[in-house]
Amino acid sequence: MLRIGLTGGMGAGKSTVARVLVEQGAVLVDSDAIAREVVAPGTPGLAALVEAFGDGILADDGSLDRPKLAAIAFSDDAQRAKLNAITHPLVGARTAELIAAAPANAIVVQDIPLLVENGLAPLMQLVLVVSADVETRLKRLIEHRGVDEADARARIAAQATDEQRHAVADVWLDNNGAPEVVEEQVRQLWTDRLVPFERNLREGVRPPRRNRLVLADPEWPAQARRIIARLHVACGASALRIDHIGSTAVPGLPAKNIIDIQVTVADMDTAESLSAALAAAGFPLDASVTHDSPKPTPGDPSGADYSRWRKRLHVSADPGRPANIHVRVQDSPGQRYALDMRDWLRADESARNQYLALKSEAEASTGQDPDTYAAVKEPWFDAVYPVVAEWAAAQRA
Ligand code: ADP
Repeated sequence: MLRIGLTGGMGAGKSTVARVLVEQGAVLVDSDAIAREVVAPGTPGLAALVEAFGDGILADDGSLDRPKLAAIAFSDDAQRAKLNAITHPLVGARTAELIAAAPANAIVVQDIPLLVENGLAPLMQLVLVVSADVETRLKRLIEHRGVDEADARARIAAQATDEQRHAVADVWLDNNGAPEVVEEQVRQLWTDRLVPFERNLREGVRPPRRNRLVLADPEWPAQARRIIARLHVACGASALRIDHIGSTAVPGLPAKNIIDIQVTVADMDTAESLSAALAAAGFPLDASVTHDSPKPTPGDPSGADYSRWRKRLHVSADPGRPANIHVRVQDSPGQRYALDMRDWLRADESARNQYLALKSEAEASTGQDPDTYAAVKEPWFDAVYPVVAEWAAAQRA
C-alpha cells in the first residue's frame, strides 16, 4: 500500500486530479467528505456537537447548520478547541478505518485541503500539490462553482502560501493550462512513479539505480529536508540526529542523483528496531549491506575490524526520488566519517575537484556498473580517511 497526500489551494484542481487518480485505480480518502460524514444526522458526532454548543446549531430538518456552528465555534479559541476536540478524533478514526479497509496493494490518495496548514506532509509517503494562479482559481470558482468572489479571496488569503506548499511538494502539478494537460501529467505520474513505488514498497525492493553523474541540482537540499522530516516521524526519539550527507549535500558538486541521508542512533539494536517503521515510511531495508568498508584507525591499525563499521542501509522505494538511508551508531568511525567528509568537501575546493576527477574517471572507466564504480571510488575514500580525520580534529580543536 502506498499513501499519498493530495493538496492545493481552494480551486487549484484537487478534485480534478483526484478524479483522474481514481480512474487509474486509486482509493480516494476525501477529508472534506469524512468531515461531513462524521457529523451527519443521527451520528454520535452530531449529538456531541449539540451537547457542546446547544441545538441552536441545527437546521430545521435536524441537520448541522454549518454557518451557525461556525459563528459560535470560530468566535474564540476556546470554542474552536472544543469543536476540534470533538471532530478531529472522529475524522482521524474514520480516516484510519477507510485506509485499513483498502486492499494491500492499494494506492491510497488522501485529499486534504489543509495538509500544509496542519503539518501532515511528513506522514505521507508522497505529497502531490496541484497549483494554479490565484486569479485563475478565482475565475474558475466563480464560473463553475458559483462562489462569492470576496468570500473566496478571503479564504484563499487565509490558506498556506505557494512557497509553503512548494516546501512539502514531492510532485508539483501545474494546473494553469487546459484540464487535459494536468490530466495527462497525472496519468503519466501514475504509470511511471506511483505504480512502481507501491510495488517496490510492498515487495521491499529498491528501484533500479541511477548511475550517471549529473550536475548539482539546487533542489537536492529541499528534497533531503522532505526525506528527513519523514524519517523524524518514523524514527521518533530513536534518531539522535538525521543529516543530509554525501555528494548531494555538497553545493555545486556533480553527483549521482541519489540523496544520501544518515540516521544516527545509539546502538545497532536500535538500528534494527527501526526496520519496520522505516519500511512503512517508504524506505525498505537492503539486507545485503551490513557495514561500511573498514579503514585503518588508531584503535584498529590493520583496518580489519568490521564490527566497528557496521550499519543498516534502507533505500527509498520511490523511483522518482532515489535515496539511501544509512543508519549508523553515534561516534562510530563510519558515522563520524560521513559528516566529516561532507564538511571537508564543502570547505575545500581542491578536495572537491580531486573527488570529482576521481568520480568522472570511475564513470568513464567502469561505465554504469555500480559495483565496479565503487571499486574505483573506495580506495580513494580509504586513502583520504586520515586526511579528513585530521582536518576534522583541527576544526573541533
Ligand atoms: P479544488 O478541488 O482544488 O478546490 P477543483 O478541482 O474543484 O478544485 O477545481 C475548481 C474548478 O475549476 C472546478 O469547477 C473544476 O472543474 C475547474 N477546473 C479545474 N481544473 C481546470 C482547468 N485546468 N481548466 C479549467 N477549469 C478547471
